[in-house]
Amino acid sequence: MITPKPVHLRRSYDVVVVGGGPAGLEAATAAQDAGAERVLVVDREKEAGGILRQCIHTGFGLHRFGEELTGPEYAQRVIENVLEHDIDVLTDAYVLDVDSHRQVKLLSTQAGVSLVDAGAVVLAMGARERTRASISIPGTRPAGIYTAGLAQRMVNLYGLLPGRRAVILGSGDIGLIMARRLTLEGVEVAGVFEIMSHANGLNRNIVQCLHDFDISLSLSTTIVEIHGRDRVEKVTVAPVDSQLRPIMRQARDVVCDTVLVSIGLIPENELSQQMRLRMDLATRGPIVNSAMETSRDGVFGCGNVVHIHDLVDFVSAEALLAGSNAGYFVRGRMPAPDNVQLQPGENVSYCVPHTISTEREHTVYLRVRTPLEACTLRLYEPNNSFVYTKKLRYVFPAEMVNLKLRPALLEQFHGGKLQVDIVPREV
Ligand SMILES: Cc1cc2nc3c(=O)[nH]c(=O)nc-3n(C[C@H](O)[C@H](O)[C@H](O)COP(=O)(O)OP(=O)(O)OC[C@H]3O[C@@H](n4cnc5c(N)ncnc54)[C@H](O)[C@@H]3O)c2cc1C
Repeated sequence: MITPKPVHLRRSYDVVVVGGGPAGLEAATAAQDAGAERVLVVDREKEAGGILRQCIHTGFGLHRFGEELTGPEYAQRVIENVLEHDIDVLTDAYVLDVDSHRQVKLLSTQAGVSLVDAGAVVLAMGARERTRASISIPGTRPAGIYTAGLAQRMVNLYGLLPGRRAVILGSGDIGLIMARRLTLEGVEVAGVFEIMSHANGLNRNIVQCLHDFDISLSLSTTIVEIHGRDRVEKVTVAPVDSQLRPIMRQARDVVCDTVLVSIGLIPENELSQQMRLRMDLATRGPIVNSAMETSRDGVFGCGNVVHIHDLVDFVSAEALLAGSNAGYFVRGRMPAPDNVQLQPGENVSYCVPHTISTEREHTVYLRVRTPLEACTLRLYEPNNSFVYTKKLRYVFPAEMVNLKLRPALLEQFHGGKLQVDIVPREV
C-alpha cells in the first residue's frame, strides 16, 4: 500500500481531521477542494486506511467507483487521491482532546504531545466492536473468545488462525464474512447463532458467506454458557422465546475451541463526549445538521463515528459532504441554516442528518427497527397532513434506507418538524 509522506507538523491548520479511515481521508480531500489550504489527518494506526485494510474480501466501491473492489483496494484509491493533494497525514498519533477554541491536543511517536490550532475539525474516528462483556455471556473466561473483527485482523493482517472449530455468536456482517473466511482457511465453522428472529447482516452476505458454504444460521438462538478452563471446549446454545428468554429444556452443547462474537459496532465517541457535543442516543453518535456539522461550530462528523454504515460507499458520500463544508466553514461560505427537524417515528430508529433545509437536495439515511415487506415511508407534520410518501419493496434493520429529498418534493412545506414513519402498506 502506498503510504503518505513524512509530516513536519505545523502549529496551525485550516482543517484537522481525526481518523484516517475512508471517512477521514475523503473528508480531507474534499476540504482542500473546497478551499482549505492546510489540511492535517491524524490516525492512531501506523498506516492510514482504517478498518478497510483488514477487509480483504470484495464488495466495496460499486457506488463510489462503479467497480467491485476489496477493502485495501478501496483504501488505496482514497489514499492515492490524498497523495494528489497537499495534505499532511500523521500516523501513529492519537488525538487526545479538541478544546472549545478548536485547539487539538495530540500524542504522536514522532513529536510527543503537540497542540495544533484548527480552523475547523472533522471527527472521523470510526467504530469499535461490542465484546462478550457487552452482553454478559455466563461461563468461564478461557482463551479462544474473540470479536469477529479481531479474528479478521489476525487472519488477514498477521496470518494467524484463531482456532480449529469455531462458533459464531451474532449474524452481523463481520461474523458472516468471517464464517466464510475461516472456512476457506480450513477452520470448521460449527454454526452461526442469532438471538433475533431475523439476521443482522446484509442479505448478500447471508447468501455468499453462509448458504454458499453450507454453514447453518440458527435464528432465535443464543449461547447461554461458554465452557472450558484454559481454552474454550464447548458452548451451550438454546432457542429463545418471544421475550428473548432462553428455553433451557431445549439447550444443547456444541463442541468448539473458538467463539467469535459478532454483535455489532459502537461509534468511537469518547472524544465527542469529552467535547460535550450533543449526542443521539439511537445512533450513539453526534447530532449533525445537513452540513454534517455537530452542535459545536466548525466541528463536523462523518462515517461510522456518526452512525454505523452498511457500505463504505455511503461513508465516502457523507465524508465528502462533511469535508467540503469544513472547507467552506474556514472560507466563511457555509450554506444557510436548516429549517426542518427530522423526527424518527413509527418503525424508524434514527435519521441522519438530524436537520435539513427545504432549499437544498439531501440524502437522509434511516434505519428501521423491524423488517417489513411492501411498506410505505411517510414524511409528515405531526398532527397534520402528509408532505411526502414513498413505496418501498422491503426494509430490513441491517440495510440503511437512503432517502433522496429534493426541494421540489417539499415545496408544500415551509419548515418545522417532520416525522418519518416506515409502516406496512395499506391495501
Ligand atoms: C469487519 C468489517 C467488514 C466490512 N465489510 C464491508 C463490505 O464488505 N463492504 C462495505 O462497503 N463495507 C464494509 N465494512 C464497512 C466499512 O469498512 C466501514 O463502513 C468503513 O471502514 C468506515 O469508515 P470510517 O472511516 O468511518 O471508520 P474506520 O475505517 O474505522 O476508520 C477510523 C479511523 O480512526 C482512527 N481513530 C479513532 N480514534 C482516533 C483518535 N482519537 N486519534 C487518531 N485516530 C483515531 C482509527 O485508528 C481508524 O483508522 C466493513 C466493516 C468491518 C468492520
